[in-house]
Amino acid sequence: MSGAVDDAALLERFPYARIDHDNKHFYRGWLGERLLIQRCEGCADFHHPPKPICPRCWSDSLVPTQVSGRGVIHLVMLLHQGPPAEGVDYARAPHPVVTVELEEQEGLRFTSTVVDCPSQEVRIGLPVELAWIERSGAPFPVFRPRAGA
Ligand SMILES: [Zn+2]
Repeated sequence: MSGAVDDAALLERFPYARIDHDNKHFYRGWLGERLLIQRCEGCADFHHPPKPICPRCWSDSLVPTQVSGRGVIHLVMLLHQGPPAEGVDYARAPHPVVTVELEEQEGLRFTSTVVDCPSQEVRIGLPVELAWIERSGAPFPVFRPRAGA
């Protein structure tokens, strides 16, 4: 575990994020390049984004649980303009934003960008896997096409 990072240090590592007690485990996972999704001990459902109780059974026994990061693109947006982001040049190529349905559970989705893939090849149904880039000096989870996809 990367538990050596206390809450104050965590806030400093992700100045652009709104970190609270519900999502701090999620961001702490990033520092160890692990995608941690809350899983309910009551009904075993994963849910994201993090909430204080399980939206399905209302249990508050929630455990940050590492997921594989493998999934399939569910939704694609190609941004031609947007907020300034490190490594993003909207004028050069549209910036892909994808929502990926993770393989752990139907309907469990996580939104980020895609790397190592020309934007015209980003499409719904493309199998992807998790990758990590650096943004603002900290690891940032993204997706890339799965080998052989
Ligand atoms: Zn539950």
